[in-house]
Amino acid sequence: LRQWVRDYCRQNGLLTLSILAVITGCVLGFLLRGLELNNQAKIYFSFPGELLMRMLKMLILPLITSSLMSGLSAMDTKASGRVGLLTITYYLWTTFIAVIVGIVLVTVIHPGTGTEKEGHKQTSGPVMTSADALLDLIRNMIPANLIEATFQQYKTDLVPVVKATELRQPNYVYIMPDYTDPKLSHPVFLELTPAPEIQYKNVPGNSKQMNVLGIVIFSATMGLLLGRMGDRGTPLVSVCQCINECVMKIINAAMWYFPFGIVFLVAGKILDMQDPATIGEKLGMYTITVLAGLFVHGMILLPLFYYIITRKNPFSYIRGLLQALVIALATSSSSATLPITMKCLLENCGVDRQIARFVLPVGATINMDGTALYEAVAAIFIAQVNEYELDFGQLVTISITATAASIGAAGIPQAGLVTMVIVLTSVGLPADDITLIVAIDWVLDRFRTMINVLGDALAAGIMAHLCRKDFPPDGSRRNTVTSYN
Ligand code: ASP
Repeated sequence: LRQWVRDYCRQNGLLTLSILAVITGCVLGFLLRGLELNNQAKIYFSFPGELLMRMLKMLILPLITSSLMSGLSAMDTKASGRVGLLTITYYLWTTFIAVIVGIVLVTVIHPGTGTEKEGHKQTSGPVMTSADALLDLIRNMIPANLIEATFQQYKTDLVPVVKATELRQPNYVYIMPDYTDPKLSHPVFLELTPAPEIQYKNVPGNSKQMNVLGIVIFSATMGLLLGRMGDRGTPLVSVCQCINECVMKIINAAMWYFPFGIVFLVAGKILDMQDPATIGEKLGMYTITVLAGLFVHGMILLPLFYYIITRKNPFSYIRGLLQALVIALATSSSSATLPITMKCLLENCGVDRQIARFVLPVGATINMDGTALYEAVAAIFIAQVNEYELDFGQLVTISITATAASIGAAGIPQAGLVTMVIVLTSVGLPADDITLIVAIDWVLDRFRTMINVLGDALAAGIMAHLCRKDFPPDGSRRNTVTSYN
């Protein structure tokens, strides 16, 4: 028995602890809600969770830059072109499929029509146009200042303050994270009495988030060029390999803190959440629709693609990813989960290092199937609540803009809610109506982040299979790469 316990703890101990931590966090959060803690007490209570988030975020920058530079530098031109093209095509394809799943489900279930009376009032027009959003996406791809890109992201016409509609929270304003305390990484509600007027502010370049997309593009370009430079590039490649190895070692050590941090992260969020009783019938149906869509896409379609392409059991592959999925659930951030996803792929799923180093950072930045699905469902739900009939052309517009909006969304908590504005305004729906879904968004965010992470990880497995001839497991590569051991 002792041997069994030892084996079990070695293989699954951390995962079991992390799952228990999520459950304990939920129970603790609900128990403490009764105490009605004040804000200061909540901040103290959530402190261990905040440390966990900070640890993960700390690793994003070194991990992305070192992975992409060392991974791509070790590929020859043909291999990197092939992997790059296949990966981007696959990412776009699966994101589009996710959007279609969402559109079909929300059209069939029709969550936006219910019996309850809701005094919804149409408010002002678009605050950020699709063209602005597209320009912003392209701007982010080319950061004017790299150092600044590590802490600042250029954004035009964001919606810093959206007044809640007369629906459920008349006295709340919704503040985007960038415009409040820089320590915050997620949108917050502020209670104001009396209810404020609508306030919009355009504050270009005022974001406190890292421009991950710009960093990915720069690092990938550097990696490709380093590979072409031969011996002259070797010193920098060695530095990147070294940093990459150190990051993985830090993750291995930090992993033991995770279960403890997760308890407080989850409990802190539950302490902060709105009273579940205020969630009405329509919002309940909307939640079910999004969750059903995420389930169909993540547990049926993506594994099916994996099986069709690789002929391997997708669920044993997914088993190796459970730790990353739990962290995604706890943190709501695919960027913060990236180090753990990388670790799971390398250690449990046996994915080629070069492939993982390219496919994962790119995926965590642009491939968000869960977010795309949710954006499509949310936009159509908002149309249904407004009794606004969408024609086929508008559905096509939603599918395209939801795909684009998910690419533009950063891998941080509730980023999808911000890029939703693009989808809504593209078909003339009031951007203010984001507030219709805000109450439940933090929960859905956790599940869509899990599907985002799952999509990236399955893509890495598929790419490793498709490009196995370019990356034979015998180590006979153009450049050899140090191992993590
Ligand atoms: N939280 C999601 C992620 O990090 C993005 C979103 O949909 O809000 O993947």
